[in-house]
Amino acid sequence: MAGLPISAELNVTRPAPERAALLLEVYRRFRQTYGEVPLIPRREAMHELISTILSQRTTAANEDAAYQELRQLGDWDAIVAAPVEAVTESIRLSNYPEQKAPRIQATLRAVKAEHGNYNLDFLAELNPAEGLKWLTALPGVGVKTASLVLLFNYAKPVFPVDTHVHRITSRIGAIPKMGEQAAHKALLALLPPDPPLLYELHINLLRHGQQVCTFSRPRCGKCVLQDICDAYKIYDGKVPPFKT
Ligand code: SF4
Repeated sequence: MAGLPISAELNVTRPAPERAALLLEVYRRFRQTYGEVPLIPRREAMHELISTILSQRTTAANEDAAYQELRQLGDWDAIVAAPVEAVTESIRLSNYPEQKAPRIQATLRAVKAEHGNYNLDFLAELNPAEGLKWLTALPGVGVKTASLVLLFNYAKPVFPVDTHVHRITSRIGAIPKMGEQAAHKALLALLPPDPPLLYELHINLLRHGQQVCTFSRPRCGKCVLQDICDAYKIYDGKVPPFKT
């Protein structure tokens, strides 16, 4: 990978085969640095879905606190039946609770209306495109949330792109300048349809983004991607805050 051409400026696209090889090299180096990450669901599917809605623009600690308090209202039926103000109050530690509360209730209502319960396991029988279509039709569920549920809970070959995945893959030169939403399709097209690989790469990009390739001051001196990163070369080691 050391011989990759350097773009004249960040976000000029390299040929697709080089970008695909770059992502596999990132996967390989992260395996050495952070270790293997087995694809095991971390929580039940509806928990994952609601928690991911709560996680939007919210820290992991506050997302979890909001979820725990939401569940104090009772089972999913009780949460649907509760006044929206009560749901809003219960998730106040999550940012934008006034927007998220009605969306959570509407999502739960839609799942129950279509399937008679709150079990999402029917998603296991759908192909990735069908699963994404069904989930993103729910209120407040975007492609990132839908991809998380499908990959984490049902081992479908999709690739969730959060802020960390987007930032690192943009900086290294795996994708040209584009929004998070568009990056889902662009990155998936470069990666093999291998759910354990996609999961491990996603988790390790998240870890790298939190610990090393941070938004405002990336710690390039400690980065195992330094010699293959476009941003590092273009900015001569002084990588600026990330601009979306
Ligand atoms: Fe991020 Fe710097 Fe590593 Fe590039 S070298 S991936 S900018 S931390």
